[in-house]
Amino acid sequence: MIFLDSAATTPVRREVLEAMWPLLTGDFGNPSSHHELGESAKRALDAARTSVTVSLGCRASDVIFTSGGTESDNLAIKGLALANPRGRHIVTSAIEHEAVLESVDYLVRIHGFEVTVLPVDAHGLIDLDEARDALRPDTTLCTVMYANNEIGAVQPIAALAELCRSQGVPLHTDAVQAAGWLPLDVAELGVDALSLSGHKLGAPKGIGVLMVKGRRSIEPVLHGGGQERGKRSGTENIAGAVGFAHALVLAETGRAERAHNISRLRDDFVADVLARVPDAIVTGPPVVAVNPGEVWGTAATVDGTIDNAVDRATLGSAITPTRLPNNASFCFPGTSGESLLLELGRAGIICSAGSACAVGSDDVSHVLTAIGIDDAVAQTAVRFSLSSDTTANQLATVAAEIDTAYRAVRSLSG
Ligand code: PLP
Repeated sequence: MIFLDSAATTPVRREVLEAMWPLLTGDFGNPSSHHELGESAKRALDAARTSVTVSLGCRASDVIFTSGGTESDNLAIKGLALANPRGRHIVTSAIEHEAVLESVDYLVRIHGFEVTVLPVDAHGLIDLDEARDALRPDTTLCTVMYANNEIGAVQPIAALAELCRSQGVPLHTDAVQAAGWLPLDVAELGVDALSLSGHKLGAPKGIGVLMVKGRRSIEPVLHGGGQERGKRSGTENIAGAVGFAHALVLAETGRAERAHNISRLRDDFVADVLARVPDAIVTGPPVVAVNPGEVWGTAATVDGTIDNAVDRATLGSAITPTRLPNNASFCFPGTSGESLLLELGRAGIICSAGSACAVGSDDVSHVLTAIGIDDAVAQTAVRFSLSSDTTANQLATVAAEIDTAYRAVRSLSG
């Protein structure tokens, strides 16, 4: 099996499981209990929290352990918006994850909020001038994702944070896909709140973090025993928190070099796929393929044509920061994404048709619609998301299998 669906989930890392094991067995206390087992669990939780603060550059009181990315997004958006007295206006982007879009929609439907949705360009990037125009005196929150799960677009979060700060608007970012690839220091990013999910990082499913800068008040979504300083009730998932903290440290260790290496593999993979299937469209920000002595790039355009003549000098340093290093997403016009997935699955290749997060939905991806891909082409989307274990040999095999699958599906539909 070749697993190229890391944006959907990752296996639990051995070191993470080993760190969790004692907390699931002998040291299984409830941190609210006033006996040795409870106190031991509390010490483990405190240590996990402190470890997360080192990775994120925040304070212990800023870290809220949650059940994952979806809960972190819900708590950030509902919690900050409902506790913020500025007004009832929210700014978000057109390509957010459903956890963000549905939370915003809840505020609109139930609490009468107004929302401004920032459009994105053909590469999936927001425009800072449009963001500036969207912020109003009654804006309670701006929520824009750090990196997109389908097309890998990386937004200019630090610049957006500066803009929001100048207007007194708190900024939340969904960093679920950015973790392990992009810098997460919240002081440098300048964000007020940031969501993370354990299972994208080598920790188990069911654990996540919401970082909220301490001075911000937050209305809880879960009410009960007052755990997590009243911000998230429910007996803490100690083993999950310990696993999360371990996974985050591992993800941060050597991150920049790993990201660089994976982006090189990804670039070569994209070049290989395009050489075999010239009709394929790369969706999302430009990918630069580096061949010895030759530098060229590809960029999807709104009308579905590919510009293979973009050189590195033209794209400049803007390339790397605008695309997740492990994302390669395509549309294969004239096929169906689901059929390609089946063919690739038969060859032992695991990837995804767009995003894995919208359960059983035939709807066209709102992300592809937002970047101007028409519905018929959007149905042909396939996303490959690499991990740090992905090798050049695996990618060469996958490119060859894409070629075969593409021909097979085209001949059936033609
Ligand atoms: N946000 C983004 C960008 C995601 O990609 C995902 C899951 O794929 C989530 C949020 C939801 O995270 P979780 O699966 O931990 O609820």
